[in-house]
Amino acid sequence: MKLEWGSIMLMHLVNVNKDALKANNELAYNNRKLLIKNRVFAMNIMGAIGSGKTTLIEEAINLLKERYRIAVIAGDVVAQMDASRFEKLGVKTVAANTGRECHLDAKLVERSLENIDLEDIDLLFIENVGNLICPVDYKLGEHVRVVVVSVSEGDDIVLKHPMIFRTSDLAIVNKVDISEAVSADPFKMKADIEQLNPSIPVLLTSRNDSISIERWIEYIESILNKYILVSDCEEHVKR
Ligand code: MG
Ligand code: ZN
Repeated sequence: MKLEWGSIMLMHLVNVNKDALKANNELAYNNRKLLIKNRVFAMNIMGAIGSGKTTLIEEAINLLKERYRIAVIAGDVVAQMDASRFEKLGVKTVAANTGRECHLDAKLVERSLENIDLEDIDLLFIENVGNLICPVDYKLGEHVRVVVVSVSEGDDIVLKHPMIFRTSDLAIVNKVDISEAVSADPFKMKADIEQLNPSIPVLLTSRNDSISIERWIEYIESILNKYILVSDCEEHVKR
């Protein structure tokens, strides 16, 4: 099914108001407290359709599932396809369908969390709906935000969407193995990201380059350990 993203986004901009965002922030805060109480580390994976979010999560599950108990909330407008890819890997998966909305919100995540035995989970991936704009405004309660862009989106994609790079904790430039074929310069994309957000780590990845996937895994483990170690600390609830 082809959706009219332009008109959905316009509707979104018209409908969003400060009260809705404030209510969302409060729910996100509660989600975060619930996650911390259960010692669950949550990552919000954002990026356009086709950027490779699902594949990066699959790779992480494959390489981490022996060491951590993993669950996934798979956000999608209607489809269950990504959710079934995660289920095949044997991890607890909840499909969060947004209906007409082009982003996940804290309410949907709250409902999804009700279907997960949080005491039995260490690591939660939340795959957001494919969109680089409104997920910026909607906190979900996650510990870290990861933005994924593919070279196939063109190497000017970063500068067209500055806010998501300014508000993320990690940026991934994906599918770098096809850069030449799509006439994109991944190093320009990395430089653009670093110019927008000098403190953000940037990974260049390809599913065909196992060393690049290992760096993604190392990032997850390093930050997971950091948060779990200090998870009793109240300041991580505030954001
Ligand atoms: Mg996906
Ligand atoms: Zn939206």
